[in-house]
Amino acid sequence: MKFPFVKPPITGKEEEYFLKAFRSGFHSGGGPYTLACQSFIQKQFKINKSLLTTSCTDALEMASFLINGKIGDEFIVPSYTFSSTANAFVSRGMTPVFCEIDEKTLNIDVRKIEALITKNTKAIIPIHYAGIACEMDVINKIALKHNLIVIEDAAQAFNSKYNGKYAGSLGHLSTFSFHATKSYSCGEGGALNINDTIFSERSEFLWEKGTDRSLVTKGLKNKYSWVDNGSSFLPSDLLASILLAQFENINLLQKKREKLFNKYDQKFNQLEKLGLQKITIPNNVQSNYHAFWILFPTNKQRDLFIKKSLEKQISPYIGYVPLHNSKMGEKIGKTPNKLVKTESISARIVRLPFYIMSETEMDIISNNLYNIAEKCLIF
Ligand SMILES: *Cc1c(COP(=O)(O)O)cnc(C)c1O
Repeated sequence: MKFPFVKPPITGKEEEYFLKAFRSGFHSGGGPYTLACQSFIQKQFKINKSLLTTSCTDALEMASFLINGKIGDEFIVPSYTFSSTANAFVSRGMTPVFCEIDEKTLNIDVRKIEALITKNTKAIIPIHYAGIACEMDVINKIALKHNLIVIEDAAQAFNSKYNGKYAGSLGHLSTFSFHATKSYSCGEGGALNINDTIFSERSEFLWEKGTDRSLVTKGLKNKYSWVDNGSSFLPSDLLASILLAQFENINLLQKKREKLFNKYDQKFNQLEKLGLQKITIPNNVQSNYHAFWILFPTNKQRDLFIKKSLEKQISPYIGYVPLHNSKMGEKIGKTPNKLVKTESISARIVRLPFYIMSETEMDIISNNLYNIAEKCLIF
């Protein structure tokens, strides 16, 4: 038996909804399933306005248009993230300023943000790694003080909470990912969430190729025309039908993920005495259990763990390759301070297989990985 790193979640209703959408003849964007998904997000997470997109990358690109990012503008972003978090804004000519992470959550270290602010800083873009929400109250306070825009990259945090409020509802703007590797998936998909209403009207123009078609749909105009920047950011309603099936099963998916998380947690608790660190959920955070990571004392042990696991047909995976010393990051980014933790952690971290699986699979995977990890730690 082979155990992959991730599998797209399937809850059972996807085929039925997909077929309905297919047969309805409404295959383009903005159809009934899209609207149902958007209204689910708005109600469930108390988000002012949500627009489905073809990816989280696209949602971030929409955000870069909305904030009128331009050459010379800077944004503060953790180096420990996916390339899209930076790339979407770099495409508008903006400069990423890379920030250190916190060693407990691997999220942006909020104590290091203020020192990076200059007269050119326009936005702070934190990400909620592995579904653990960032210290958003602190980030929002800093942003308010310096008049900055906060964009949460909540790609991994669909259904996570911070201080009782949902991730994605806390920044001026936020984004979700529904990529096949994420906890809720339609293959390729995402959403842009607009909490600050000053961005609402333009977000619809950008979404529909820079036109004011949304005003026609609302009956406010009888002809639409080209009014803004934009692109074709809206996904096919066929994809939204798959997503809606998963949204409707959010409690089931959450419970299944929690079970796997707790299984890993109990197992790997026993290895902390040997120096292994693992993901922990802070008291003020409620996780969506997107992922489980462990951190070895050395890079050698980590690499050995991956090698031995693959020999057993189990596929753990490394975390992010830091952006600040990537080819693009070095060329166009700024790294005012040495990012010691980012570099050390990215060399020692490993993420364990995480998807909706049977209890038998959970037992096989967690027992095997535990045994391998123990050997690597005393190696
Ligand atoms: C997955 C991910 C993205 C990209 O999502 P896509 O939907 O594939 O574009 C961006 N940011 C973070 C933090 C992610 O985990």
